[in-house]
Amino acid sequence: MTVERENFPVDVLFVGAGPANLCAALRLVQIIQAHNQDVEQGSKQGGKLEEVSIALIEKGEEIGAHAFSGAVLDPVALQKLVPDFKEKGCPLEGEVSSDAVYYLTPTSQFKLPITPPPLNNHGNYVISLAKFNRWLGRLVAETEKVDIFPGFAGTELLFEGESIIGVRTGDKGIDADGSHKSNFEPGYDITARVTVLGDGPRGNLTKTLFNKTNAYGTVPLLYETGVKEIFEMPQGRVQPGTVIHTMGYPLKKDTFGGTFIYGMTNNMLAVGLVVACDYHDPYLDPHLELQKLKTHPFIKKLLEGGKSAYYGGKTLAAGGYYSIPRIAFPGALVVGDAAGLLNAQRLKGIHLAMLSGMAAAENIFSCLLNDDFSVEKLRPYQQQILNGPVGQELFKVRNFHQAMSKGLYKGMFHAGLQFITGGRGLKDPLRVPEDFKGMKTIEQHYKRQIAPPEHGLKFDNTFLVDKLTDVYRSGAKHEEKQPSHLLIRDQKICIEQCLPRYGAPCTRFCPAQVYELEKNEASGEQFIKVNFSNCVHCKTCDIKDPFENITWVCPEGGGGPAYTVC
Ligand code: SF4
Repeated sequence: MTVERENFPVDVLFVGAGPANLCAALRLVQIIQAHNQDVEQGSKQGGKLEEVSIALIEKGEEIGAHAFSGAVLDPVALQKLVPDFKEKGCPLEGEVSSDAVYYLTPTSQFKLPITPPPLNNHGNYVISLAKFNRWLGRLVAETEKVDIFPGFAGTELLFEGESIIGVRTGDKGIDADGSHKSNFEPGYDITARVTVLGDGPRGNLTKTLFNKTNAYGTVPLLYETGVKEIFEMPQGRVQPGTVIHTMGYPLKKDTFGGTFIYGMTNNMLAVGLVVACDYHDPYLDPHLELQKLKTHPFIKKLLEGGKSAYYGGKTLAAGGYYSIPRIAFPGALVVGDAAGLLNAQRLKGIHLAMLSGMAAAENIFSCLLNDDFSVEKLRPYQQQILNGPVGQELFKVRNFHQAMSKGLYKGMFHAGLQFITGGRGLKDPLRVPEDFKGMKTIEQHYKRQIAPPEHGLKFDNTFLVDKLTDVYRSGAKHEEKQPSHLLIRDQKICIEQCLPRYGAPCTRFCPAQVYELEKNEASGEQFIKVNFSNCVHCKTCDIKDPFENITWVCPEGGGGPAYTVC
């Protein structure tokens, strides 16, 4: 069926309202306004930039709804972008007042005598990314220079020859069988002189673009999965700005990851766990590991009397400097997590995302001034990222994540050498395969074919929470009558190859219980059921499936989690 689509042309299109693109939009407006003022006052030669049309689309129901992070913010970018951020009501949960790092054994803990410099958070702020993005979104809206469209998912890149000329937003009102419902609304073709892709870690548009153009860096884009609960604690028990990191239990020595506990305002305490997506154990379940963490005597005491109230999950792009792909294309720039900009050693990416957005804005301003959006004029953005503050920070830890994927002890040895040699270490670059290749079969990992080990946890859904209850607390929902946005290429691979060898790991690595192994009552055949409505858009399945049998595509705009304090 041919669908007529409206074309919506703009000069600059931002896709995804994460911190990178929100900062990009705000910075662009700031520079244009400053330029026009200078021209008006005669302190600058040339013409004013009038009527620059700027649009920003976001797949979440509102800005911030899909924003999820640790999160401790290094304010380096915020201070440049909004120097009076405190006066402007930036929602800070607390300036970091104390930080500590512990190593956990199954029954006790050892505090490191000093906090390793990368985890020293002096001068940083605990934030809720969901609140922070809403605030940034309000600043962008207040400029009245950017058309903001929440609930619009970019589902397809539009090309003219090799050049990206915009995105198509998803159709709305398509039934599960593909037919048009009475409320059918075709998506728009939003065309732009430049499109800035900030679709997050493993973004659907950027994944397509990187694959199409073979744009990957020296090492693949690598990821970590993070899950987090927010606890409501008794009055007076939480010091906002407290930061605790732990290593060790519950993760095994061959699995890189760690945990964090952050004190927030309103007596809330965030407790989260991050695990590198190259883990080997087919029975590992990040959500379950988070529950195990809470049973550790040290963590249990911290959380005593509290009630788990919110939940979320997300991947982080942790490959670092060598995994940065090409990020300047004819007609498009890539920013933030989509470009792999995260310092895995510091467990921080928000400031790098913000800096990348600001660099993109400065590059676009120069293109507007010269009335030239050719790739030659967009390319300096890539150089600015690689050689400017973002690249400088990432270069110093360029082999960190790869080293830690060798296991805790070997990883610490490599990381130590890297610290002494300015990031070089024994091998530079240290190459590792894509995350999905990391998983071992049950036989390889456990040396025999066994069922998933019993965890013995009793969920009361106050302190220890089962996955489904946590999904409910993420606010995740999708219009049920639509095609699934989780595409299983071949169910036969799931049942005939993945199940016997890996034990259907999608039923565990998904932090939202989307995948379930079921049996057809009539035929007795097993199949993987996809509860797509639970999906919190973390993208782990797209990254970790050992057969690359699952692809995440954008659901109807507005669906997904509804984070408010995560
Ligand atoms: Fe994450 Fe995939 Fe599960 Fe959605 S279905 S929550 S993207 S693992």
